[in-house]
Amino acid sequence: MSQPIHDVVIIGGGPAGLTAGLYCSRARLDTLLVEQMILGGQVMITTEVENYPGFPGGITGPELMERFQTHCLEFGLQVTTGNVETIIDDGKTKKVIVDGKEVLTRAIIVATGAQPRKLGVEGEQELIGRGVSYCATCDGAFFRNVPVTINGGGDTAVEEAMFLSRFASKVYLVHRRDELRAISVLQERLFANDKIEVIWNSTIKTCQGDNSGLTHVVLENTQTGEISKLETQGLFVAIGVTPKTQFLEGIVDLDKDGYVISAPACHTSVPGIFVAGDVRQGVLKQITTAVGDGATASWRVGQYLEESE
Ligand code: NAP
Repeated sequence: MSQPIHDVVIIGGGPAGLTAGLYCSRARLDTLLVEQMILGGQVMITTEVENYPGFPGGITGPELMERFQTHCLEFGLQVTTGNVETIIDDGKTKKVIVDGKEVLTRAIIVATGAQPRKLGVEGEQELIGRGVSYCATCDGAFFRNVPVTINGGGDTAVEEAMFLSRFASKVYLVHRRDELRAISVLQERLFANDKIEVIWNSTIKTCQGDNSGLTHVVLENTQTGEISKLETQGLFVAIGVTPKTQFLEGIVDLDKDGYVISAPACHTSVPGIFVAGDVRQGVLKQITTAVGDGATASWRVGQYLEESE
């Protein structure tokens, strides 16, 4: 029996991928979504989402993603779990290699998003799971009544610092400059929180621990060069994200940071391969924009399939 050819394969099941899944399956396209781990993407590790329209008072990330998922499945989206290793572009038919097996499709939407960036300092890797974490929502509750540190100055770092202040005895936010990147409303809340102390103009040089896990981090003042020790049992790294595009190297055009170059919106350099969400170069990284991208990419797929018939 010959292998089925899907109309579109969506790679990644975050807000962009799930929205594309909703739009494509509702348009009666034979749509398969391939997700590496669990549906929902980075929003699954977000405690409270308060800037997604329609949910005054906020909604938790997992609850919002559960709704996205239920909505897609209502329209018959097919979902599979697997790791996409590469794409082979044979023109009108493309092969998506998932865990060594070929999946055939006429079009592809890449919606793989991004993953937390690592510091790359001594001791970090060895202490992952023993004090070093990249997700306060996942691991914060393990740090009750002990001091913890968060590194970064963006929206994620500030949101996570506030979340951690529910559990920890003290939260240090270490930032490399003397002003935060996070939006004003988050900064106001941060500065009003007595449990949080910002350590300005500082970077983390090493993470050090003993058999029980992380015990302290070594800081360097970026202005004076002064080295100091900060006792902390948790280090939450929130210094931005990197796109998940390794499997696309040499297949579609990527920028120097690995983001997919798309022009016009949602088209990649390869006909029939589209891109949506955080993995796309130069986009605002929000659930709302990822959703918009998912819809746009689906519309582009529809046009492409009609033109290539
Ligand atoms: P981000 O905005 O890129 O901020 C990263 C932070 O880490 C910056 O403050 C940066 O410092 C610092 N940093 C980067 N590399 C570093 C290094 N090697 N050592 C020390 N510090 C370093 O990342 P993010 O906070 O994860 O946010 C990612 C995107 O998601 C953003 O577009 C953000 O707006 C969005 N987001 C939105 C929400 C929301 O709407 N509620 C929540 C979370 C995230 P500098 O400031 O000096 O560059």
